[in-house]
Amino acid sequence: MVTSFTGGCACGAIRYECSAAPIFALNCHCRDCQRATGTAYASVLRVPAKAFRVTKGEPRFYTVTADSGNTVSRGFCPECGSPLFSQLSGMADVIGVRAGSLDDPSWHRPAADIFTKSAQPWDYMNPELPKYPGYRR
Ligand SMILES: [Zn+2]
Ligand SMILES: [Zn+2]
Repeated sequence: MVTSFTGGCACGAIRYECSAAPIFALNCHCRDCQRATGTAYASVLRVPAKAFRVTKGEPRFYTVTADSGNTVSRGFCPECGSPLFSQLSGMADVIGVRAGSLDDPSWHRPAADIFTKSAQPWDYMNPELPKYPGYRR
């Protein structure tokens, strides 16, 4: 497993690094993730907040109340709009990094599907992963 990694947005204005391995990796099929990604789900790595830092640029944040009832603050690049990471009010010690923003996304291994109750009929899920209808810590 990777113990540190870097990533950033599509235009290069925002860069980040993480000095710890992910705590959990998942695919979230909630409606907020569908809207924010423009597709079926968000693939996310949860990392310790204290190991994560933005090394270049100033992300913008958009805050919504998620299906879980938590407040989610989604960080994105103000130039190119790439979604980068998010923070949940109920999990201040954790940052959810969007897998597609990694410099090397190939090692990402989602371990669960969450909010499958709002998964779309055209969304194909790996049958081998555990499924949770709602939120999962
Ligand atoms: Zn950008
Ligand atoms: Zn979600």
